[in-house]
Amino acid sequence: MAEGEKRGRLGGKSSNPYHENKKYPEPTICPRCHLAYHNGRWQKAEDNVSSEKPHSSHCPACRREIDRFPAGLVYLRGSYLDQHRDEILNIAKNQARSAAEQRPLQRIMWTETGDEHTEIATTDSHLAMRIGKAIESACKGELTMKHAQGAELVRVYWERSV
Ligand SMILES: [Zn+2]
Repeated sequence: MAEGEKRGRLGGKSSNPYHENKKYPEPTICPRCHLAYHNGRWQKAEDNVSSEKPHSSHCPACRREIDRFPAGLVYLRGSYLDQHRDEILNIAKNQARSAAEQRPLQRIMWTETGDEHTEIATTDSHLAMRIGKAIESACKGELTMKHAQGAELVRVYWERSV
C-alpha cells in the first residue's frame, strides 16, 4: 500500500511522475509483474530475494501500464506499412524482447492500428527510439523523433509510402 504520494504529481511540475529514478527500500517486489527492486534497480527476481517481508510497490513500468501513460509513442504510417505490417510489428516486438533482457522496465504497452497510423506505446522513451531506429534500418523510410518539451515523452514517427 505504498500508494498515495505519486498520483498528485501528474500534471504538476515534476517532469517524471513515475519516479524512474526513485529509490525504493530493498527488497521491494512489484505485486503486478513480480520484478524485484534490488541493488538499486528493478530486475527479474530469479533467485528468491532473501527477506521474509519484502516491501510491496508497483514498479515504474507497471505504474505507466496501469495509468495508460506511456513514455514513448511510435507512429507508423504509409502504404509500405500496409504491405509489411506483420514484419514491421515483429521488429518492434523483437526489440522490446531484447531490451527487456537487460532492462525489464522497457515494455510495449499497446499496439493499436487506426485509420491513419499504427501506434506503439512504450513504458520507456529509449525503447520507442530503439524501435524506430530498428524499423528504419530494416525498412528504410523516414524517421523523425520529437521530445515533448518539459515532459518525459518521446514521439517517434516513421513513414514509408512506397
Ligand atoms: Zn511491475
